[in-house]
Amino acid sequence: MKTYWGDIHNHCGISYGFGSLENALKTAKEQLDFVSITGHASWYDMPDRKAPLEYLVDFHTEGFAKLEKHWDEVRAVVKSYNVDHEFVTFQGYEAHSSAYGDHHYITPDDDFPIVKGETPLDIINQLRPRRVIAVPHHVGYTPGYRGGNWDNFNPDISPIVEVVSKHGCGLSVNSKLPYYHDMGPRDSRSTVYAAIARKLKVGFVGSTDHHAGYPGSYGDGKMAVVATEKTREGIWEAILARRTYAVTGDKIDCRFTLNDAPMGSTVAATTKREIAVDVTACDQIEKITIFKNLRPWRQVTAFDLQQKSADAVANTTYKVRVEMGWGGDQVGYKWDAQVQINNGQLQSVESCFRGRSVLAPTPELKADPNINALSNAVHEQTDQQVSWSCTTVKNPTTLHPLTAGVILEIAGNEQTKLELQANGIVITTTIGELLQGNVTKHKYAYNSEAVVIHPAIPAYRYTYTGKFVDEQQEDECDVYHVEVEQNNGQCAYLSPIYVE
Ligand SMILES: [Zn+2]
Repeated sequence: MKTYWGDIHNHCGISYGFGSLENALKTAKEQLDFVSITGHASWYDMPDRKAPLEYLVDFHTEGFAKLEKHWDEVRAVVKSYNVDHEFVTFQGYEAHSSAYGDHHYITPDDDFPIVKGETPLDIINQLRPRRVIAVPHHVGYTPGYRGGNWDNFNPDISPIVEVVSKHGCGLSVNSKLPYYHDMGPRDSRSTVYAAIARKLKVGFVGSTDHHAGYPGSYGDGKMAVVATEKTREGIWEAILARRTYAVTGDKIDCRFTLNDAPMGSTVAATTKREIAVDVTACDQIEKITIFKNLRPWRQVTAFDLQQKSADAVANTTYKVRVEMGWGGDQVGYKWDAQVQINNGQLQSVESCFRGRSVLAPTPELKADPNINALSNAVHEQTDQQVSWSCTTVKNPTTLHPLTAGVILEIAGNEQTKLELQANGIVITTTIGELLQGNVTKHKYAYNSEAVVIHPAIPAYRYTYTGKFVDEQQEDECDVYHVEVEQNNGQCAYLSPIYVE
């Protein structure tokens, strides 16, 4: 089975978001294996149109009507982009609910009408016999304020739950990426940990919830499935089986099994539990934590990996991240870049492209179908070189990057040479130098766009394989899940395995 990457919850100009549907789909294809574009369809218990909510109620009402009016067109375009084994699309839309929390409804069936209802089950019942799931999202909000509603949760219609997006991470109130959108803070009662504490069956996924047509935008959340093939049926089967996990940005490749049953499984009661974890990260692994009933049970840290191998630096693979952006350009600074490798071999390239960041309409934002037509693309890739182009804008705050980049996986040694060219900036360096530190260069004299080649990470620091045995039954149902954190702050959240 292989890992495939997707974003099944994001918005564009088909409802109250921005940017064209076509551009959203093209953009998704650049970085993802599958996508669903989920226009906003309804809000059953929307607050009354009273001060100060007039603007909010109006943009929702107009957005729902817009999606409904163009629904046949939207579905036809989404369907036309589905090419099995190349790029997979699902049909879908979103319904808000103050009382039951927001959900997006996803289906592999193209004949998919917009229906409205009070509860997720009401909506699903009207859609049957079509195959459809309701995915709760931004569940961490306060109950009654569009947060998760675990009293009403039904794993038969909701096999997966979105744990991370542009809103932040709703796994627990202590997870990285707290909620700072205008919808409010996280609440312990509605986080995903609260669902696991009730022993509810949930699979983890991430998606961007991007509102300007940039599915897969780096750092805003995405999901992985472990599937037999890159087809609608293959990915759908993996979603229903909860062979899914969430990442914040980097495509951290993970496997997690208990007695050979994959993540998302329920295993029949047994006292001998052999747990295996396999991680290929994109940066230095900071820590891997195996949780049992929400408490850390085993942990592997950068310290343990460091001890593992001093001799593993000679001839191995390295991950080298190139990042570009900064400067003061609000309109968009276009980059054309390439890296040439000598005395080594380029094995893979992962792009980290972002769109202009929009999470909700504001009065000053104007409709622009090309808001995120940024020409972000990897062009040519051989054993020796890669070229790409991307557009970056000024970082909106010092805590919110809008840089772009690529992660290069290079087989080589300390003598392996890298030459980077980007808009006239030239950096020549070696893996040996990059093991000591990074290299930066600026375009102009001051307040300038800049490029950094981050330190090289040898394979033994970004990969981990381990086995553990647990013979201690704690509960009627013991729940194991895994969280992975990299040195650069990017995380992976692996769906639980239940022993009952
Ligand atoms: Zn949404």
